[in-house]
Amino acid sequence: MALKPAALRVALDHAYDLAATRAAAHVARDPVRFAHAWALKSDADAEIAGVFAAQLAFGRVDLFGPVLERLFAEMAAVGGPRAWVERCADGRVGGGDPLVYRWFGRADFLALGVALGRLYRAEGLPAAFVTMEAGISRLGSLAPYEAAGAFFPTWFARPSSGSACKRWCMYVRWMVRREAPDLGLWRHLDPADLVMPVDTHVLRIAQLTGLTDRKAANWKTAVEITSRLRAFSPGDPVRYDFALAHLGISAGCTGVASPACDACAMKPVCRVHAPAPRRRRAG
Ligand code: SF4
Repeated sequence: MALKPAALRVALDHAYDLAATRAAAHVARDPVRFAHAWALKSDADAEIAGVFAAQLAFGRVDLFGPVLERLFAEMAAVGGPRAWVERCADGRVGGGDPLVYRWFGRADFLALGVALGRLYRAEGLPAAFVTMEAGISRLGSLAPYEAAGAFFPTWFARPSSGSACKRWCMYVRWMVRREAPDLGLWRHLDPADLVMPVDTHVLRIAQLTGLTDRKAANWKTAVEITSRLRAFSPGDPVRYDFALAHLGISAGCTGVASPACDACAMKPVCRVHAPAPRRRRAG
């Protein structure tokens, strides 16, 4: 479907406004809530909590959410995420109750804790993230891979590898954007330079509305969607991410006509509801 800029802008802004009115309910189902909770203690606690919350944010929120609750309860028992990663770096965090989500387990969480503890003893997350590529690379360079599982290295996939880096894009969005639901802790990065976190929800809606025709959720697709959104919001192209993602996470968009479409702001530009092309008369 051809991109219709004026109609698309109206639909995106409508979706953004609707998501703002439903922000409390959406945040309750969104991993950003963990960063919010720890921001009450300190920026460093929120930054570290955000890394864990973002890295586990795949699949169903009702499955990864309880694992994060248990992990953060362990951290709270020793003073919070910052204190916990310090202990990891000192080798003072070991076994405990099972802590497993999909193909990641306790050894992976501890190894990430070690990397973060080492990073905070050096320069900290904000200083490492002069760019997203640099930040992921620096954190990965401090990780004890030998202590973790086979899938642990996937947490450090970088844009230069071609990965969409959805979880890191989302994390940096939380840290950099100044508007709710994001925290705006990192003022050294410009929201204008952020890249859309492209997960299955965002990719599906981008395809349905002509923001991309690309099939794969990779870095090229993320950059293309971002550059098209930049035309509508040059200073903050990822402002639409929360709204579009929650059309899938909270509103139940599955990419086919359903009751979710009735209240969907994107319906006027969604290919599912485009009029069928007229047939030419024979003769
Ligand atoms: S109109 Fe329906 S299919 Fe299209 S984006 Fe909205 S909920 Fe999804």
